[in-house]
Amino acid sequence: MKSNKQRRAEIKAHRRARAARAETQRHVLDRQRNVCLCMIGIEQADLEILDRHNNTCGLLPEFYFARPFSCRDCGAEEVWTAKQQKWWYEVVHGPVDSRAVRCLACRRARRERLRHAGPGANLLREQSERLRALGATKPDAQGAAEVEAALQSKWWSLRVVAIQTMGRWGGEANLARLHAFMAARPEGGRQYFGWERVAADAARSALTCGE
Ligand SMILES: [Zn+2]
Repeated sequence: MKSNKQRRAEIKAHRRARAARAETQRHVLDRQRNVCLCMIGIEQADLEILDRHNNTCGLLPEFYFARPFSCRDCGAEEVWTAKQQKWWYEVVHGPVDSRAVRCLACRRARRERLRHAGPGANLLREQSERLRALGATKPDAQGAAEVEAALQSKWWSLRVVAIQTMGRWGGEANLARLHAFMAARPEGGRQYFGWERVAADAARSALTCGE
């Protein structure tokens, strides 16, 4: 015969086992759901973490959705993924109101600029001035390499200065490239604002300035 005490202990053990099974099942379901969600670019928010570090009076998100945005500095079309948002809000504890505004390259460039803030502050301006100065000198391999690097710069303004420098240098190869920029000017309405258009206009003015 089992004593009442034994029976109670058995019932308790049963309940614990059932709770553990339910917990496991819940985890499996959660995981499945997370897998399904993240496959379509959605992540579930951890409200407990968000609440603990809450720095807003607004609503907390329950899910993160991939957010398309244009980079504030270079205009590149980017997507801030749900996973990146989860990391930003829940690991770094970024402000709940904050949003991604710059692409990775511009974030790095900005961080670099800020790190060098102080005497060597305006890196972009320094580089532009240097490029302009190059335009007044005879082109050599070193200068050509600098112009080439500037044309690949994340900063359109620097690329434009590179195009002006090429115009000032002249020479068959440079002029051919300026004409190529102009030829690549996209048709289309005012709504289109891209590098190709900026480059074409810069090339045109670089070509006509020299005349
Ligand atoms: Zn950018």
